[in-house]
Amino acid sequence: MDKASYFKKMEYQDEAYEALCKRCGVCCGSQTSDPCANLVKLNDGTYSCKVYETRHGPQSSVSGKMFACVNIRDVIKSGAYYPDCPYCKGSG
Ligand code: SF4
Ligand code: SF4
Repeated sequence: MDKASYFKKMEYQDEAYEALCKRCGVCCGSQTSDPCANLVKLNDGTYSCKVYETRHGPQSSVSGKMFACVNIRDVIKSGAYYPDCPYCKGSG
């Protein structure tokens, strides 16, 4: 496989992985009383991150609690389990 095809394949796999997300916001605290301050509820009931492209690193909850935003793979590795999250299926 040439380099261009390889990168195209990687891009496709990333998009397919991202597409699994149901935008429920649970991993960002949508079902808690103190979610991430960057979490926004959209009109269709799903959630979005205001800083998605630069999200990884220190972030703050609405009440000001600091935490580190990490990739969902790392959230799951740390032991978190969200029953309705497609990424958690089979990991719990
Ligand atoms: S819990 Fe899973 S499905 Fe819900 S927003 Fe987080 S990654 Fe997406
Ligand atoms: S910064 Fe991280 S925890 Fe906060 S809304 Fe965005 S993805 Fe979720």
